[in-house]
Amino acid sequence: MTFAELWRELEPLGRDTGTGGYRRYSWTPADVACRAWFTRQAEKRGLDVETDNNGNLWAWWGPKTARAVVTGSHLDSVPDGGGFDGALGVVTALAAVDLLQEKTFDTERSVVLAVFTEEEGARFGVPCLGSRLLTGAVDPDAARALTDDAGTTLAEAMTAAGHNPGRLGARDDLLDGIGAVVELHVEQGRALAPMGAAVGLAEGIWPHGRWRLEFRGRADHAGTARLADRQDPMLAYARAVLAAREAAADHGSLATFGKVIAEPNGSNAVCSAVRAWLDARAPDEATLRRTVTLVRSAAERSCTRDGVTLSVRQESYTPLVRFDQGLRDRMAGVLAAAGVRAPVLPTGAGHDAGVLAARVPTAMLFVRNPTGISHSPAEHAELADCEAGVRALAAVIEDLAG
Ligand SMILES: [Zn+2]
Repeated sequence: MTFAELWRELEPLGRDTGTGGYRRYSWTPADVACRAWFTRQAEKRGLDVETDNNGNLWAWWGPKTARAVVTGSHLDSVPDGGGFDGALGVVTALAAVDLLQEKTFDTERSVVLAVFTEEEGARFGVPCLGSRLLTGAVDPDAARALTDDAGTTLAEAMTAAGHNPGRLGARDDLLDGIGAVVELHVEQGRALAPMGAAVGLAEGIWPHGRWRLEFRGRADHAGTARLADRQDPMLAYARAVLAAREAAADHGSLATFGKVIAEPNGSNAVCSAVRAWLDARAPDEATLRRTVTLVRSAAERSCTRDGVTLSVRQESYTPLVRFDQGLRDRMAGVLAAAGVRAPVLPTGAGHDAGVLAARVPTAMLFVRNPTGISHSPAEHAELADCEAGVRALAAVIEDLAG
């Protein structure tokens, strides 16, 4: 099958017809449909598909050998996300297998197509949850108890989707069998377009994390409560938002409040509580710490003034990731031999590859995103660039697994 044929099949799954964005939250019917689609496609190609104890999918091509070559990405999305984030890496992997099978490539080492679960952390708050469980970076009990906005735990969600959450945890045996991981991903930024390159290679990932801030005040009547008597948590939250923007601008970092829940969320009531999530990223860890500290202290100052309490919980943290230079150089050589110029780029976006890089030689390929927009229905990659991605990935797999 061509890339375009595969893409057309996956495209409608989990898409909101109103916004055009994707709501493929892990373990929901949309996610289950995506998983089933992937499983069918992999089995059609003669791959042996299994779900590991953490809910990640592994489709094995060829007998299980040591130093397997793993490629793939994720199929879950952020709220109203674009169609390419994650899905592009999965669909190009399937299309690359087709290219290699057409030319009757014999795998010397197993090639494994992987789909990692809850990469975005959009439902349970911890990004790259599937790969973090796999590497042991997340405690299984803590993971089982994670809740979504409706109060459903991960354990309950997995059970409802027909999976046993009782066996979550690190899989050294699986990781020990992997020789290299190559994740292809849509570019989430706009570096390749000005360079005139369809594909790029990742240098590393900025350190980044997610913090949950809970401002607690007192609900009151918007028409009768005197200003002096209010304990309005919205004020401290608003100051935290402004502080995040300032701290980021002053330090060359990024700090974003993109998710907020106000309680009781009435238009004529002072809030009793505001829960908000700070996403912060920076070129180095000291700058990241400084950025978060500035936001926190601005919020604390405002809380003291306004009679509001603040609790801050770090939900996730990923240190600076440097991808394997030897693997990257080898891939650059393969691509150059195929006439492909692939610039090397840093990125502020987290990926399962970034988590796996702590355990196995890992690299990433990016496919040009003409506007750079991501985590939005406007995210895009041209068909010709996606096809260039398929050829690049096939060439790399052929080299690594041949
Ligand atoms: Zn992604």
